[in-house]
Amino acid sequence: MNGVIIQYFHWYHNGNLWNEFAENVDFLKELGFTAAWLPPAVKCSSGREGRGYDVYDLYDLGEFDQKGGIPTRYGTKQEYLDAVEKAHKAGISVYGDIVLNHRIGGDEEEEITVHQVDAEDRKKIIGDPFKATAVTKFTFPGRGDQYSSFVWNYECFSGIDIIKKEDQELKGIFKIHNSYGPEWTESVSHQFGNYDYLMGADVEYRNPFVVEEMKKWIKWYLETTKVDGMRLDALKHISSDFLKDWIRYIKTELAPDCYVLGEFWKDEAEKITYFSDKMDDLISCFDAPLHYNFFEASKEGRNYDLTQILKGSFLEKKPVFSVSFVENHDTQKLQSLESAVKTWFKPIAYAVILLSQDAYPCVFYPDLFGTEYTDIKDNEEIKISMPKIEILPKLLKARQQFAYGEQHYYFDHPNCIAWRREGDGKSSGCIVVISNGGEGYKGIELGQDHAGLVYVDFLDHIKEEIVINTDGVGVFKVNSCSVSVWIRKDQYNFSY
Ligand code: CA
Repeated sequence: MNGVIIQYFHWYHNGNLWNEFAENVDFLKELGFTAAWLPPAVKCSSGREGRGYDVYDLYDLGEFDQKGGIPTRYGTKQEYLDAVEKAHKAGISVYGDIVLNHRIGGDEEEEITVHQVDAEDRKKIIGDPFKATAVTKFTFPGRGDQYSSFVWNYECFSGIDIIKKEDQELKGIFKIHNSYGPEWTESVSHQFGNYDYLMGADVEYRNPFVVEEMKKWIKWYLETTKVDGMRLDALKHISSDFLKDWIRYIKTELAPDCYVLGEFWKDEAEKITYFSDKMDDLISCFDAPLHYNFFEASKEGRNYDLTQILKGSFLEKKPVFSVSFVENHDTQKLQSLESAVKTWFKPIAYAVILLSQDAYPCVFYPDLFGTEYTDIKDNEEIKISMPKIEILPKLLKARQQFAYGEQHYYFDHPNCIAWRREGDGKSSGCIVVISNGGEGYKGIELGQDHAGLVYVDFLDHIKEEIVINTDGVGVFKVNSCSVSVWIRKDQYNFSY
């Protein structure tokens, strides 16, 4: 079947997400979703404010009274486990969100030696090493030694952003001198000289005790939650040597079918491909370059050359390992990687990711449900409205019914392109036509055996029917700045 993921959250979601998701699993199944990516379930430094990325305690899934209470932003451990179980009953897989790079909100100070580095070039040392204190000890007093008695100290971290020197607090990027040397690990992104450091107390994966503990933890997490896969956060910043070893351990010792999806955020497909190859194809990666194509196309309108829409995407390089998406919790308005695709273009972008061959598409929660939120930017309160994309359920249905078989491209006009899915013997496929300018059409030769067949627009944007002529050619239309999905009329109610 044509798998499709829902990213079941966004940055500004409020309320108990685990319960809401559990209540919606049947609805999601009906729409054709086969998997759901849920946000990190762990206890954050900022307690119920935390979105899951400022990780404090990986073993606290909303079970212990730490950081301001028992539940996380999304609910309690039991609610999380119940939600996963309900999803499984509905036939939906669940992907947990795993943050490996850093820890925030330590419990005790330690005396350490550090040197400061230039944020723009982390290999450039500023001044001499010096003694300082920093909150690098994590003892988890609220949990004690339940599940694990591992205590994290400065030997487990490579760098930190806040230190105290002679009682004065200093902020910056400080390289911690631990048993693994005063240098950053080499096996990370070379952006900014060395991109090991991202935030908080950044984890030292050259420490074998840390590696051991993280293997122990993922075993516990998979056994406890029974999730079917994982989305791994911030992989640019984590030792690829560790990642490969850790993922191979999961795939060989714990769960051979565990689906692993990496966030390796780069706008160049070559770099994602390099990373993907290095991981021996153990993981899939998000197609950030394709998202940026959508973003540009949505801004440029008819000046964007649609024949280039897939150009430079990870989908072009390694389709089977690519997860395509239109928007996510980092690219939505007011967030760190803000690059929100404009609303008018979203039906077109979703048609591309849902109806193309090979890639595994991921739908963003607000695009299905709609949302409104406010945040502060430059001291100003800004209100954002994300309307739901009304045509999305229909496009999901088109994916389930018609997006099968070989794909043929008709990328021959800057403002109007089409592709055809041949069908697979059961389903007769579809022809997708999109326009970012005026009304358009594509003459497509289907073969003389198609002569006389009647086609209709499954999305109902164009009401008239199209009849294939005696030469086997059909002229498939599209409205201005729109998408049409042409299917055989006699297959309208076809279902797998
Ligand atoms: Ca790191």
